[in-house]
Amino acid sequence: MILRKTIHDVRCAKKYSVALAKPLSELFNQPKPKFKFFVKNQTGLFGAPELISFEGFYAFKEQTKIDCDNFVDEICNPNRKRNLVTIFDQLSNSLCCLADMAEFIRTAHPDKSFVAAAEDCCISMNTIVEKLNTNKDLYTNLKQVILDGDKHPMTEEDRHVGELFLFDFELNGIHLEERKRQYVVNLNNFILVTGQRFMTAVEKPRIVDPTKLPDVVSKVLSKEYRYNSGGKLIVGHPSSHSEDPVLREAAFKVYNGPNAESEELLDNLLESRHKLALTCGFPSYAHRALKNSIAENPSFVMEFLNILNSELRIRSVFDYKTMKRANNNDIVSPWDVQYLTNKIKQNHLQYAMIDYASYFSLGDCMEGLNMIFNSLYNINLVFEDITPGEGWAEQLYKLAVTHNTEGLLGYIYCDFFERTGKLHNDSHYVVRGGRQLPDNSYQTPIVVVMLNVVWRENHGPVLLHPGSVENLFHEFGHAIHSMLGRTRYQHVNGTRCATDLAEFPSVLMEYYATQPQVIKHYAKHFKTRQPMPEDMLKKLYASKYLFAASEMQLQLFYSVLDQYYHTQAPQSLSTTNMLAKLQVEYYGLPYVKDTAWQLHFSHFVGYGAKYYSYLVSKALAAHTWHSFLNNDPLNGIQGERLRTECLQYGGGKPARKLVSDYLRTPVTPELLASSLIQDIDQGNEISKFSAT
Ligand SMILES: [Zn+2]
Repeated sequence: MILRKTIHDVRCAKKYSVALAKPLSELFNQPKPKFKFFVKNQTGLFGAPELISFEGFYAFKEQTKIDCDNFVDEICNPNRKRNLVTIFDQLSNSLCCLADMAEFIRTAHPDKSFVAAAEDCCISMNTIVEKLNTNKDLYTNLKQVILDGDKHPMTEEDRHVGELFLFDFELNGIHLEERKRQYVVNLNNFILVTGQRFMTAVEKPRIVDPTKLPDVVSKVLSKEYRYNSGGKLIVGHPSSHSEDPVLREAAFKVYNGPNAESEELLDNLLESRHKLALTCGFPSYAHRALKNSIAENPSFVMEFLNILNSELRIRSVFDYKTMKRANNNDIVSPWDVQYLTNKIKQNHLQYAMIDYASYFSLGDCMEGLNMIFNSLYNINLVFEDITPGEGWAEQLYKLAVTHNTEGLLGYIYCDFFERTGKLHNDSHYVVRGGRQLPDNSYQTPIVVVMLNVVWRENHGPVLLHPGSVENLFHEFGHAIHSMLGRTRYQHVNGTRCATDLAEFPSVLMEYYATQPQVIKHYAKHFKTRQPMPEDMLKKLYASKYLFAASEMQLQLFYSVLDQYYHTQAPQSLSTTNMLAKLQVEYYGLPYVKDTAWQLHFSHFVGYGAKYYSYLVSKALAAHTWHSFLNNDPLNGIQGERLRTECLQYGGGKPARKLVSDYLRTPVTPELLASSLIQDIDQGNEISKFSAT
């Protein structure tokens, strides 16, 4: 596909911390409206002059269409003067610059006119992309270059990116005979619609007739849930945090009870994905989904998950025993896990969340990020004013990311504060990917980091709970991946890489939000300016590893299920029976009869055979941390190596080779599994120490 959809984390430390402390902390701790709608716009969104008003989107769209037509003509011209992959990337860039911006504005802009114009652009871009994806001339020219080479010189990067473009084309069946190609188009449409319907069904509450439930169940549920006008109970969530074990059990069983509508949707989704894969020449949908990933194929994923499982089981059993003790030695059931782990974690911390938040003002955290990036990569986050018209809401911040010798690398817009209608997920959006321009300058990447921080003006500075600090650092891991990308092509810039690689830089940044030796540099009490006391630092760090094994066991179980659903021919076993069978082997608690939680697991739609990705990224981050950074997390030599041997490539090198080269050891299932286990063991060692 031409258009890649973005779906969608000691040296000089003191010196920089002091030099930049004031501006960032002041700016972020006391946010002021930076942008008013009644001020006349001087520029357009993100500084694009054509987007000074919403009408600009329509003109932008027309220009994009003209540009695309020109690039298509150039690609198909036998006398073209330039490297083919370069033109392909420019075509992709034209589409992405508008589509990514429109996609972001559609979800983030509070003004309905902008939203409508952006939505119109998204629809038009999808139509153009669909047309290009079926353009045989484009495909034939590209295929010929990949097979026979280009008449203009090609580098390894050109070839790799060209192959990615070709693979995207073939995902849509362009290489098949017409009847089969049409079948693939129909299947893709069916999968899209069925996936959306499943996502909607996942969110739906369960409506149950209380007269058909046992008395004790209907009684406890009726205290917690509302009735609809027909006298039925609306069970919208499984009450996992309730203190009442009877309610937890009843709600779990009712909420996760059998559901014919969702089951049919999931069956249809899996079956059509399987047919799609077979038609395109893959043994299964997982084979198709994993082709350009670090894992490369499902057997690598299952080998990794099986090795991890064998090591993790003994550790997660220990966690379930801890839960059992906290449960008055009663058996622990799936509906108890969230309640018990939260309770034990809170007890363990011994300090209230607000005590921690007092040390994590947003300003100090931003300074912390600046100090970390400065030490590792020689870069600064520099505040810049937003010109009227450039932003989409109040209280936005714009940060220029500058390298000490290389100058401007890109821009990060920070949209941190909650507002009505804003999406609740913390996220990172690529608005413009970086790429090399014909004059050898670089198209600066632009990204947005979006959070949902609650702040009341008269409540003092903006304070973050430790979980929000971790999220902030995670999203900045993604943002900096985009900033440091220096690929020739935007198609593979920064986070536009394999899914199992994409979370590596962001998970790595989570270590910087939880490791005492780093936090002590920036976590200071907002009133006294004293650093976080040693005891609080240790408790916080240890709490990250409490139940790390049992939580990972659950992620592993989800990943295994996702692999089985997408590798086996459907209908050999119902999704529920397969879940029950796999739960014995891959999860520490027994399957609960007549339940089907997979019908509430929306990630099957978005990830489809790639849910394991987070575990692989986490393993890479753990390996990197323990091998290269643990002893000196702000080491500039290691930072530079991470930048130049990994982050700057984005997806510009085959993913397995990229990480193996960076880690300087072949990335194998064993290496990944042992990195995760080592991380848990070291964390638990320190936790034990801090508990004494
Ligand atoms: Zn992430």
